[in-house]
Amino acid sequence: MQNVTVPNHPLLRHKITLLRDRFTPTSMFRQVAREISLLMAYEVTRDLPLEPIDIETPLEPMRAEHLAGKKLCIVSILRAGNGILEGMLDLVPSARVGHIGLYRDPATLQAIEYYLKLPGDIAERQVILVDPMLATGNSAVAAATRLKQSGVTAMKFVCLLAAPEGIATFTEAHPDVPVFAGAIDRELDGHGYIRPGLGDAGDRFYGTR
Ligand code: URA
Repeated sequence: MQNVTVPNHPLLRHKITLLRDRFTPTSMFRQVAREISLLMAYEVTRDLPLEPIDIETPLEPMRAEHLAGKKLCIVSILRAGNGILEGMLDLVPSARVGHIGLYRDPATLQAIEYYLKLPGDIAERQVILVDPMLATGNSAVAAATRLKQSGVTAMKFVCLLAAPEGIATFTEAHPDVPVFAGAIDRELDGHGYIRPGLGDAGDRFYGTR
C-alpha cells in the first residue's frame, strides 16, 4: 500500500498480540500500548533532519549532530489517542501536544468535533496525529482536515491497528499524509469495529466496559 508503513519488528509483533488478547488486564494493556507507542515513535521520526553541531566531549572537541527542522507536535484524537501519547512522549519529551475531540455518531459513523486545543505555532510544527484504531477512517480524516485548516503542512498519522477500509479512506482524503500502523487487520465489521482487532481501544485503556 502506498504511503503506509507497517514496521516489521518482532517485539512490536509480540506486544500487539498482547494487546489483542481479551485476557490482558487493563494495567498491562496500558503498559504494553505505551511500549508499542515508543517503538512507533521511533519509526515515525526516522527521517527527521539532522544538522551538525560543535560540542566538546570530556576528551576533545567534536562535530556532532542534533535535530534540525520543524519542532514536533503530537496531536491526540480523544480519548483513545491519549493512550499512545505517553509512549511517544517517552521518546520525544520536548514535543508539544494538541488534542482534538471527536465522537462517532453511532448511526452514521461520521466524526463530530467537540473539542480542539492546539499549540499557537502548530502551523510551523511537524505534526504526528495519533489514534490507536484506524477503523472507518472518518475520525482520522476529519482530524487531519481540521489540522490542515489550522495551517499544518507537515503531518504523519500513527495508529496501532488499521482496517484496509480505513487506510483506503484516509489515504484517498489525505494522500500527502504518511500512515504508520502497528498492524493491518482483515476487515471492518458492520458496527465499525476492526476484525480481528482488539475491541474498543478506549474501553481497553480505561476499563470502562
Ligand atoms: N475503535 C475501536 O476502539 N475499536 C475498533 O475496532 C474500531 C474503532
